[in-house]
Order: sequence, then structure tokens, then C-alpha cells
Amino acid sequence: MYKYDPKSLIADEFINDGEIRETLRYAEENKNNIELIDSILEKAKPRKTQDGVFASGLNHREASVLLACEIPEKIQEMYKLAEHIKKTFYGNRIVMFAPLYLSNYCVNGCVYCPYHLKNKTIPRKKLTQEEVKREVIALQDMGHKRLAIESGEDPVNNPIEYILECINTIYSIKHKNGAIRRVNVNIAATTVENYKKLKDAGIGTYILFQETYHKESYLKLHPTGPKHDYNYHTEAMDRAMQGGIDDVGLGVLFGLELYKYEFAGLLMHAEHLEAVHGVGPHTISVPRIKKAADIDPSTFDNGISDEIFAKLCALIRISVPYTGMIISTRESQAVREKVLKLGVSQISGASRTTVGGYTEEERPTDTEQFDVSDQRTLDEVVRWLMENGHIPSFCTACYREGRTGDRFMALCKSGQIQNCCHPNALMTLKEFLMDYASEETRIIGEALIQAELENIPKEKVKTICADHLEKIAIGIRDFRF
Ligand code: SAM
Repeated sequence: MYKYDPKSLIADEFINDGEIRETLRYAEENKNNIELIDSILEKAKPRKTQDGVFASGLNHREASVLLACEIPEKIQEMYKLAEHIKKTFYGNRIVMFAPLYLSNYCVNGCVYCPYHLKNKTIPRKKLTQEEVKREVIALQDMGHKRLAIESGEDPVNNPIEYILECINTIYSIKHKNGAIRRVNVNIAATTVENYKKLKDAGIGTYILFQETYHKESYLKLHPTGPKHDYNYHTEAMDRAMQGGIDDVGLGVLFGLELYKYEFAGLLMHAEHLEAVHGVGPHTISVPRIKKAADIDPSTFDNGISDEIFAKLCALIRISVPYTGMIISTRESQAVREKVLKLGVSQISGASRTTVGGYTEEERPTDTEQFDVSDQRTLDEVVRWLMENGHIPSFCTACYREGRTGDRFMALCKSGQIQNCCHPNALMTLKEFLMDYASEETRIIGEALIQAELENIPKEKVKTICADHLEKIAIGIRDFRF
């Protein structure tokens, strides 16, 4: 019998089944306890301090009470608070990225993923370095600056050396004014040694989805292959941090298990990272299971409605105010619109989830990892964001300036985002408008930049930013604060 201990390095202790069950019981018991709910909402409100604005977030027990609560007025209060926190710490910037699928060779047996070993219906493909180059040029030509590379797990076909070679290729390509300035990596759990190598290769965030925090289900959903080892997978972020990567991204694949269980587990994981390493997750992703080659999402019983999905996004924002939240093109335009307001801070655009998909004229589906709902071009996504009051940002400054881990969190907590991330967003948006946007998008964007320039609080920063914007207009690139 394991005991709950957020500081432990044993998966069963920091994600403790007994503690989750007790949390769910407590949440259910208190879901109509207005006094408690109000006090939790009060605790989560951002407050001014000497150094800026501060929000305490919520622990898994408090947040689970809010998730269990079904009182409509209280849910509206949660949404309002999530919006307020989002505005306070992130402003209206939305960071843009695209996934790049390197290889769909995989030795695992994940029952929800079409890349599983036994699937003979999909062609297996792995990009050569020449193909990586072509994909990256296609991505640069859309205007992307930040990628998340994706790969199946296969020590023979996609060993760490292959991943490192691809990262190197990606960073080396300079095509017209294009550049990939940040490569995030979503590959299977690996060793401290390999995490060190990824760190040395200059990666941004190491992303690994837990899929499910329910150990018993995890073992069934991953019946074969190295990913079957629940503890090795769950303890991966600790090894990544040991290897020197201090920006890590968590995620749950919603639909596999009961969402209340997953939510408590996810927050416990965040609390564990904070307790052991002094810094919580850099990002949290919220994928839902989608249709794919031989995968039918309706065979999983725990699918969640759009309403519950929105509530989860709002409560993640409230609970971990400094953690970025990512949403992919798995979700439709309508769902994305809703959750952007509630706390999502990063979205992908024009994604192709096929190996080699960006160089094909038509969106191919043969090696697709999942069905893409939002199929708009990057230009369309950028325009839509601006029309909805957001600033699309192609900024990658933080990690290039060494503001990772706790240093990024410190920036967030000091409320300096308006003087740093905000101008960076405007300058990178300007680059996009100059180099890649349609005329219609450019006109909307130029007006937005002019208006938003006024929202930079420090005069000196505003003047420098305005000067950089002029230089970008005459062809100079890559300014940052
Ligand atoms: N192979 C790596 C691993 O095992 O963690 C990571 C890469 S995998 C290509 C990226 C993620 O896609 C998985 O972690 C999983 O959550 C998600 N995924 C797999 N099948 C999916 C499906 N049918 N619908 C939506 N997302 C899916």
C-alpha cells in the first residue's frame, strides 16, 4: 500500500490512487457546499503584491470541489475568474506552433493510437533529412517559427540519434526570412542521458502526455511495448529535469478514463514537480481522443462533452495560473474559440498529422495520427484570432534568453509580461504580416499592432518596440526583449 507523498520520486506515491479516490469523495461530498466553494474561488483570485500581481492557484482537492460543483451560477463565476486570470497573466497573446511528424514507426501497443505496432493498415514512414528539410521549408513558408516534433517509439527506426539529427537539421534551415527558433519535443519517455542530449540540442519544452493517471487502465491501454511500464512513463518528467530540461509539458488524453480522476492526477503531477524541482509544468495539453486509421473513439466510454471540456480548461487555468495551456487542431474552430477565452495560451495552426504531410498539395490522411478538425490555413487562423481580440504571437524569446523554468515563472509572477511578451508578440506578428500574410490579414494586423503598441506600460519599452517595428518593415528580423 503506497502513501501519498508529493515529494516522493515513486509514481505510485506522488500520483497516489488512494489520495485521488479520497479527493473525489471529498469533492462529491462538498459539491453543493456554497461556503466552501466561495472560499476556494476567493483564494484563487489574483491579488496585488509589492512585486506585482500574484495568484496562489489551487491544489488538487480544492480544484476537484469546483469540478464536482454543478451549480450554474458558480460555474459562471469559475469561467469569469478563469478569463480574469488569463487576462492578468497572459494578456491577449496567443502563441502559435505546428506539429512536425518525423516517424510513425512504433513498437508500442497503445490501443487508442493508430501508430500501434499491430496496425498493418497504415504505411510506415520515417522522414529522411532531405525530407525534414522540405517539411521545414514548407512550414517556414507558412510563417511558423515554433515546432513540436512528434515521433512513435522505436529504438531501431527512431533512436535518439535520429531525433537529434532531425533537431539539428530543423535549426539549420534558413529559407528566405524563415527560421524555426524553437523546437519542442514530444517523444516517448527516455533516460536521463538522452534528456541531457535533448537539452544540449537546444530543445524548448519536453512534452510527454501521461495519457491516463489511472494505473490499472494505463496498463490495459498500453498492453505491450516499453510504454507499458507505467512507473517509467510517469516518472519521466523527473528524469527530464534531472537531465537539465526545466520546461516540461504535461497532458492527459481525455476520453480514456473518468475526467475527474484525470484532473486530480494532473494537478497532483504539477504539485509534485513544484515540490521536488521548485517549478511546475511549463505547459499542459488537453487532447481528446479522435478518430484515426483503425481507431474508433466511440469504443472508449469516457468521452467528454464540449461543456465539460470547457470547464476543465477553465479550472486548469484557475489552478495553475502560470502554466501555459495548449490546444491542438484536434478541436474545432468553435471549441477553440470558447476555450481561448477561458485560459488556453497556445494553439497549433494548419497542422498536418501525417509523416511528410506539409509537402503534399492536398492534406493527406494515409499516415495521419488523428483526424484534424480545424483545417484552416495559418493565415486564416491568424486573422480569426485577431478578429476575436487576440494577438497571434510567434515569439520564442524566453528560452533563447535563458528564461526557462523558474526564471520564466518569475517573469510571469512579476507582471512584466506586458513589457516583455507583449512587445515580442507585436514584433513577431509584424514579421508574419510582412513575410507571409494575405493582404486582408495584413491590414487587420497592422491596425492591431498600432492599437496594441499603446498598451505597453513602460515608455522606454514602447519607444524601442516602435523603432524595431519600423526596422522590421524595412526587412530586418529577429528582435526580442
Ligand atoms: N510516441 C510518443 C509517446 O508515446 O508519448 C509521443 C508522440 S504521440 C505521436 C503524441 C500523442 O498523440 C500521444 O501522446 C497521444 O496522447 C496522442 N494520440 C494518440 N492517439 C490519438 C488519437 N486517436 N486521438 C487523439 N490523440 C491521440
